[in-house]
Amino acid sequence: MSAHFDLSKEEMQSYGYKIVDLIVDHWDTFDKKKPVIRATRKEMDDVFLQEAPEKGMDAEKVLEFVMENVIANSVVTTHPKAYSFVPGPSNFISTMADSLATGFNIFSGGWIVSPAAAEIEIVTTNWLLKMFNFPVNEGRGVFTSGGSMANLTALVTARRIKCGDDFSKAIIYLSDQAHSSNIKAIRVLGFRKEQIRVLPTDIEFRISINKLKNAIAKDKLEGLQPFCFIATAGSTNTGTVDPLNDIADICEEEGIWMHVDGAYGGAAILAENGKEILKGIERADSLTVDPHKWFFQPYEIGCLLVKDASWLSNTFSESPEYLRDIEGNESEINFYDYGIQLTRRFRALKFYMSIKTYGLDVFKKAVDYGIKLAENVEKLLRKSRNWEIISPATLAVINFRYNPIGLNLTEQEVDLLNQKISEKIMTSGEALFVTTVLNKQVVLRMCLINPKTTFEDVESTLLLSNSFAEEILEKKTFLNKANIRKEFSKNLRDKL
Ligand SMILES: *Cc1c(COP(=O)(O)O)cnc(C)c1O
Repeated sequence: MSAHFDLSKEEMQSYGYKIVDLIVDHWDTFDKKKPVIRATRKEMDDVFLQEAPEKGMDAEKVLEFVMENVIANSVVTTHPKAYSFVPGPSNFISTMADSLATGFNIFSGGWIVSPAAAEIEIVTTNWLLKMFNFPVNEGRGVFTSGGSMANLTALVTARRIKCGDDFSKAIIYLSDQAHSSNIKAIRVLGFRKEQIRVLPTDIEFRISINKLKNAIAKDKLEGLQPFCFIATAGSTNTGTVDPLNDIADICEEEGIWMHVDGAYGGAAILAENGKEILKGIERADSLTVDPHKWFFQPYEIGCLLVKDASWLSNTFSESPEYLRDIEGNESEINFYDYGIQLTRRFRALKFYMSIKTYGLDVFKKAVDYGIKLAENVEKLLRKSRNWEIISPATLAVINFRYNPIGLNLTEQEVDLLNQKISEKIMTSGEALFVTTVLNKQVVLRMCLINPKTTFEDVESTLLLSNSFAEEILEKKTFLNKANIRKEFSKNLRDKL
């Protein structure tokens, strides 16, 4: 038995081409597939559960099995009717770029191993620094696995720079709409519960500046050390951007680190009025953006941008003996000195190749498209007697619910009805369309960042939702108001 992994050139070609063909075929047809699949643990166990095999089997058989069972049991995140969470529209060039980076197994940790990879990360993160009006010379960007890791990296840095070793009195602030990854990061960092202030948002889901000021003042009177505020630029739930300039004023005055979590909405900087929407973002000390969301990259790529590169190197640089020979010239950057990972995959390549190939112009138009699509969906829903808007179209996110005029359903009934609409849509597999909770109401949410999503796609999903709603209303005795409902089914627009 051989102790190597080699295949002949012909075998590699045959296998490799097959995989490329499968990927191309998927990109060519995925919009015609159903986006949703669901399976239980039991069903998956029945397919996959086995001990690690001692003896291998035919490569093509394994591939076939994977296509039938693994790929087929995964949601199509690139699908035009994948509306939920934050969809992953991705792009084909980056998909291939990722294959290239993996194919050549490029190590993106230190300059000496792959100077070009480091240079490309410098160049592409400089593009991002410039986009957000961060200083390109003093600042630095570093790619991470995603937004969660970028937020963690930011908070470690903020704490190191603001508190040094003793953070026993340090207090960190964020809003109740801040993404859960921030709380996770705070826990990873070992803060006690008493050191975290989750502040309520106003009716538009923005942080209340007054409450922030009060909280800081109170903590200072207690002898505590307010050290960091996490602002959100595009909340995942509603697309809401916190009042960044007001927050920056407070942070400057109080000497507090301002971190902006722009993992969802940061890419809106590319929109026509992006500078206006995100005004004040340039005043942050650190900023998370997440290219695998609205910069249309495949998973995984997140990014942290900071105003001062030395903040990162002061936090993460260690010089173990075996890395001695590769320290080199200061301008020749070792990215392992600027973040948590030593061995890093070459994430910058896909970002680089896609922007070089398509040009920023295409990215800008794609971001604009999503924002406008959500606005048009809002207009459509506003004309309807059946649907009400709970949070208006903001950065391509919109929240609404089925609650027909005249039916006078109770809050509980409306919650249940919308939950059931979502369940029926998901079971049909026609769209990835789940609920969220806003102001204690169950609402349906659409995140429309995929440039392949058409207005007609959304309209057809809403019509389907509508007919499911009617079915539910007809069947359920507790909602047996079908007669009233019939009045609303006059024409297509009315049906929505
Ligand atoms: C998605 C998201 C994150 C987490 O990013 P991942 O890439 O999923 O790790 C953090 N913050 C916000 C606002 C997000 O939308």
